Amino acid sequence: MSYERRMLEDLKMPTQREVEQALLRSLFNNNGAIKEFGAGEKIVEEIANDFGLNEEQRTAYLETIYEKENRVKRSYLWHRLLFRAADSLAKEKLVSRPTQTVLLTNKKEWMLTEDGYNQILEMLRIPLTQKEILPIKSYEVQKIVKKIYKQERPEDYNPFETKKIIQITREAKLRNRAFKQAVKEAYDFRCAVCGMKIHSPNTLQWEVEAVHIVPHSKNGKDDLLNGLALCRLHHWAFDVGWFTLEDNFKILASRKIKDLSADFGKLGDYDFMGELSKENSRIFLPREQRIHPHPNAIKWHRENTFCR
Ligand SMILES: [Zn+2]
Repeated sequence: MSYERRMLEDLKMPTQREVEQALLRSLFNNNGAIKEFGAGEKIVEEIANDFGLNEEQRTAYLETIYEKENRVKRSYLWHRLLFRAADSLAKEKLVSRPTQTVLLTNKKEWMLTEDGYNQILEMLRIPLTQKEILPIKSYEVQKIVKKIYKQERPEDYNPFETKKIIQITREAKLRNRAFKQAVKEAYDFRCAVCGMKIHSPNTLQWEVEAVHIVPHSKNGKDDLLNGLALCRLHHWAFDVGWFTLEDNFKILASRKIKDLSADFGKLGDYDFMGELSKENSRIFLPREQRIHPHPNAIKWHRENTFCR
């Protein structure tokens, strides 16, 4: 029996399989990505707490003797166990390695793959359809997010998807999740109209929604030039035509607002419709101009959805 194995047994450490499952659960609880395992990392402590590891189990270390260099390297047994479990998940293609993920996110993290994501949903008995709603990142979606950010901004941008997607393919689903993630991140999880930024108590779900300016039902593209982040209330008002945008991103409100009764759209002192009709108010936009909504998409909304 190897020195490491003997220590694992003597200290009654969790099995590698158990640690693998704990890692998948942690990935799920941390939006799909966790940092490399190092001393002082929150995730290392959290998983140790889940297993109820005692002080001795947490601090036991292995010594590797490098005779040639005349030095001894110490490594924590617990960190090694975590790494071995993650490495095994990576071999099964259930997670991407920090060396792969860093190329996409600039962060050295282990990230769920779509297969890993499916597996954890199955483990937790959550239907796969929830993927559309859950805020979990995956390596495959992250790749598309990167592509969306890199997209060019042509003068004659066409906001309609030209390739006909008749079936809802796996690719189209991944693309849609990437669109939602890219838009929300680009707008820093704020509503472009009111600035509202709020998440769920567990910090995983953001209230803000990614909006297609030319809607998906009209074959609108899944990209930032056809995207906007709006809170639910403004999303609804935009989709039904209570307001639209001018090419310079000023808010243009429907004239029908002035015909509404005085108590319509009020929330205490807050006058939802009145705020929309204020002159010269502009939406908040990402700092980078090249990812702002494209005038061709906005124009379509003004001419087809907006109620003058
Ligand atoms: Zn809003």
